[in-house]
Amino acid sequence: MVASAVLPVHAQTWTKQPFDDKFRQLEEILPTPNDYRTGSGAPGHKYWQQQADYTIQVKLDEEEKRVTGSETITYTNNSPDRLSYLWLQLDQNRFDKNSDYNLSMRAQTRYVLKPSNAGDKQSLKDFRGRTSRQNFEGGYQISNLKGANGKPLRHIINKTMMRIDLDQPLLPGQQFSFSLDWEYNMVEAKTHGGRGGYECFEKDGNCIFLVAQWFPRMAVYDDVNGWQNKQFLGRGEFSLEFGNYEISYDVPADHIVASTGTLVNPEQVLSGPQQDRLKRAETAKKPVMIVTEKEARANEEDDTSKRKVWTFKADNVRDVAWASSRKFLWDAWGVKSGDNTVLAMSYYPQEGNPLWERYSTQAIAHTIEQYNKYSFDYPYPVAISVNGPVGGMEYPMMTFNGPRPEIDKEDESKRTYSRRTKYGLISVIIHEIGHIYFPMIVNSDERQWTWMDEGLNTYLQFLAEQAWEENYPSRRGEPRKIIDYMVSAKQVPIMTNSESILQFGNNAYGKPATALNILRETIMGRELFDYAFREYSQRWKFKRPMPADFFRTMEDASAVDLDWFWRGWFYSTDHVDISIDDVRFMQVNTDDPEIEAEWKRERHEAAPRSLTEQRNEELHRRVDDYSELKDFYNEHDEFTVSPKNTKDAEGKLKPYEEWERELLETEGNFYLLDFSNVGGLVMPIILAIEYDNGDVEELRIPAEVWRQDPKQASIQLWREEVITQVTVDPHWETADADISNNFFPRKILPSRLELFKDKKKRNLMKEMQSEE
Ligand SMILES: [Zn+2]
Repeated sequence: MVASAVLPVHAQTWTKQPFDDKFRQLEEILPTPNDYRTGSGAPGHKYWQQQADYTIQVKLDEEEKRVTGSETITYTNNSPDRLSYLWLQLDQNRFDKNSDYNLSMRAQTRYVLKPSNAGDKQSLKDFRGRTSRQNFEGGYQISNLKGANGKPLRHIINKTMMRIDLDQPLLPGQQFSFSLDWEYNMVEAKTHGGRGGYECFEKDGNCIFLVAQWFPRMAVYDDVNGWQNKQFLGRGEFSLEFGNYEISYDVPADHIVASTGTLVNPEQVLSGPQQDRLKRAETAKKPVMIVTEKEARANEEDDTSKRKVWTFKADNVRDVAWASSRKFLWDAWGVKSGDNTVLAMSYYPQEGNPLWERYSTQAIAHTIEQYNKYSFDYPYPVAISVNGPVGGMEYPMMTFNGPRPEIDKEDESKRTYSRRTKYGLISVIIHEIGHIYFPMIVNSDERQWTWMDEGLNTYLQFLAEQAWEENYPSRRGEPRKIIDYMVSAKQVPIMTNSESILQFGNNAYGKPATALNILRETIMGRELFDYAFREYSQRWKFKRPMPADFFRTMEDASAVDLDWFWRGWFYSTDHVDISIDDVRFMQVNTDDPEIEAEWKRERHEAAPRSLTEQRNEELHRRVDDYSELKDFYNEHDEFTVSPKNTKDAEGKLKPYEEWERELLETEGNFYLLDFSNVGGLVMPIILAIEYDNGDVEELRIPAEVWRQDPKQASIQLWREEVITQVTVDPHWETADADISNNFFPRKILPSRLELFKDKKKRNLMKEMQSEE
């Protein structure tokens, strides 16, 4: 079945012949444009979004691994609607033993597929996660929820969402302020997974705390969904409003805090020299250490009961995350972004070196330089990379990144790292810093559409990686790398809700990133693509785009009909496999009897001789003995042109006009090329055509060649030279899955035959003897 057939795509019914209309315009499935979102893909003249401002005081209990906070939220209703209730997101409730996340977690079927009763298999890591999640006292304890007037607010908690009922509806343009207290147990990141948590080091007993999804946040209310209060099941990430924040972090006095925003009170939390270094970093030529390894090691040995309060301010962000540890080294470097200077900063334990001091802050600076080219200037004052137990996660101005070198257990000065760790670190920092653009600024709805941030960001990550060094080992972006996924059986279209996606990384990161790269290099060209992509970024920065806004903008700014592309790559599970089935070679029939007879005679003579003819070569024939048997027909073969033939031919041409006669004399070679679309996805046909004089021509046929028949297409070529070989997709730019049908004539492709040794059968007697 064709994937698009299961979508409510076709209002029409074809009863005369089955027809899969791959070029059908998308209007029927995209939402109808309105005053909030236009048909061009831009925000409409009545576009609105809500605002949520926060003041938060939070305290970290290092012993208990517990976070306690109070917050005041000021919510501004910019919508045209009266709101009688507000929804908040309680993400920590995901870690409650009885959360939907825990209860609906599917056993990993790949471990239980064993048909014999020899027992199932499970990795120790997976086993640890599943058992500890079922024992953990997680989730918020919420108290003291009250309005600005001090009166308690009616509310109900529904799993990861909390509704606050207002006494009076909140009218358009009005603000509502309220406050609440909360506390929760932090998860240990390595056992629970997740996007934050703590990690403690055996050697010195110190911990790194990465704190995220840590305070109750306003759910989004928008023109598309009303309240986006789809429950948090762990995968579909965050749907958030912009606002301004003031946060104070109460932590042990020897901790260093990294946070979204600008540090407001450096004089209270940093030493004099540290404050000086931070100033110096703004204009330095390379990263400057703010907290040196020596200072961090001194902090690690410290054992203080004193506390410090770090205060930060962050404007126009959709979230805040922070990190705290006495293990942190800290470096900073001022990087230009348009007219702004951004402080690129890294925080890491000494266990992160030598990798982190060399690469982290450089990778931040590189990301800003590259992403600015393709979207907009990084607008925030800081961009941060923190090393800790989370593999890679993003927040406004703030990212958590995992890779570290291997440290020798005997001698900690012996440190090595694999190629994968080195490039893994650079790549994850590019990726997570890149997320500050998408979706932290281009604020798409992550709970619904993972590809809108992961896909777009992975695409830009690929461009940034390739600008780091030649032959950078990018994992995603090149068309050929997506083929195994594209032909795999268990998959869903990109346009699938985050929680229901199969093969998450390939679906939401790899495929959209590759699709955009192909769109840029093969379909649209860099100039048209880059302009349109930048237009999308500019239109929707600090706003909330939906898929249609992206699809429409890319078309609207480029005049390239892309509906077929979105349909194929985003709404279907088709793959690319175009086969060249036949090439037929023709020259014009001149209708000149002399020429045509000669042509036929040549064909006749070129035909292979039959075995009988070959073996009779020496045969003595009757006419050899009796020459009188030879007559007229032994002189004239069947191709002989008679005056009647010539006359007939002239007669035939009589009604022809001059231009028609001239065409009959056309010289050169005609070719009919037949293609079939095996994979289902319509794509341009890119051809390398080799000629007998050694020339190679590249011919790019637009995807529209499939518009009246998505399964079969033929084209006609007229060339002076003779074609010797035709190759489809010679640069491997379309993710064509099966190369073997890309050649006419077919080619024999080299491969390897792997030989292996048969397993030995067990010999118990021998085992027992060798034991003696
Ligand atoms: Zn990501």
